[in-house]
Amino acid sequence: MTFTIIVLPGDGIGPEVTHAARQVLDAAAAQTGIEITYKERLIGGCAIDRLGTALDEATLAECQQADAVLLGAVGGPKWDDPTAPVRPEQGLLALRKGLGVFANLRPVRVYPVLVDASPLRPERLQGVDLLVVRELTGGLYFGEPKGRLRQDGREGAVDSLVYWDYEIERVVDLAFQLAAGRRGRLASVDKANVLETSRLWRQIVQQVSRRYPQVQVEHVLVDTAAMRLVTSPAAFDVIVTENMFGDILTDEAAVLAGSMGLLPSASLGGRGGGLYEPIHGSAPDIAGQGIANPLGAILSAALLLRYALKQEKAARAVEQAVERALQEGCRTRDLGGSLSTRAMTDAVLDRLSLED
Ligand code: ATP
Ligand code: MG
Repeated sequence: MTFTIIVLPGDGIGPEVTHAARQVLDAAAAQTGIEITYKERLIGGCAIDRLGTALDEATLAECQQADAVLLGAVGGPKWDDPTAPVRPEQGLLALRKGLGVFANLRPVRVYPVLVDASPLRPERLQGVDLLVVRELTGGLYFGEPKGRLRQDGREGAVDSLVYWDYEIERVVDLAFQLAAGRRGRLASVDKANVLETSRLWRQIVQQVSRRYPQVQVEHVLVDTAAMRLVTSPAAFDVIVTENMFGDILTDEAAVLAGSMGLLPSASLGGRGGGLYEPIHGSAPDIAGQGIANPLGAILSAALLLRYALKQEKAARAVEQAVERALQEGCRTRDLGGSLSTRAMTDAVLDRLSLED
């Protein structure tokens, strides 16, 4: 089997970490017997410099046709001017929209050997292994009307929270599927005591739940969910929520792991195989030094193997290799060690085996 992956290294440490992820993908593919063809293209600031746009049409078309897209990061101080006509993040927004992805998945695992890197007390972190599924296309960020208001010499502003049944149903259904493949527990997070969209959300969750009798579902108010993420995070399996709540809760959950450099993400939905990227940004402060933690990108490659290429065994092998490397003390600077990006990548490659 041959798969095509578009690689968009982007800016800052993006090229360094996507290079690491490609090496691990290659090693996993070789052991699995699949073939991967890569096409590297520009996105973000580097695309603005070379093409005058943050993502050109031809690249987007290739992404839509590929089996998956692997992204590094976009942005940096060079393109930070908020008044500039083209900005790096526009490339990412155009890409998400063009791919039609509607669910952002962020798995958070706390590795036993890394509990000291987390701000939480160790006993609260034992067994944390959760997955946040955030709705990506609707809600307050996109609802109309949106804009400035003027009345009787006063200035106001409005953002609208709008959700349609099909938008809720598709992301909730995906979350149920994911929960069914894990520990069978789904927490649907809303604010149904005050928001009408949340009451519609609950109604749809109830309907979809009938299709998944094996999944135990609970409704949690977002304020309670925020609290429980720090008091008893290990009790969560899959969390599903709307766009803005998800934006906030995914960052909160990420802190549990100890470093941003460790965490992967996948954006699924639409027709293609999805978009895979580490959750960290372009980290301009350490770019070009060869010291970035490549594990977020490598674990994103594992998600790509799982969800886009359907190579579960290879995905697990990559995740196990990462876990072993951490267990055996391999640490980049962000984790208090001194390994370079390359040395950390080699540590994972050395431990990658599909045999066990
Ligand atoms: P963006 O606006 O692109 O989301 P950001 O300001 O949120 O960026 P990052 O660029 O991710 O944040 O960087 C935040 C901090 O975390 C920086 O000090 C950076 O060096 C560090 N950091 C981020 N990713 C990594 C990584 N993979 N390895 C080591 N340190 C990292
Ligand atoms: Mg950020």
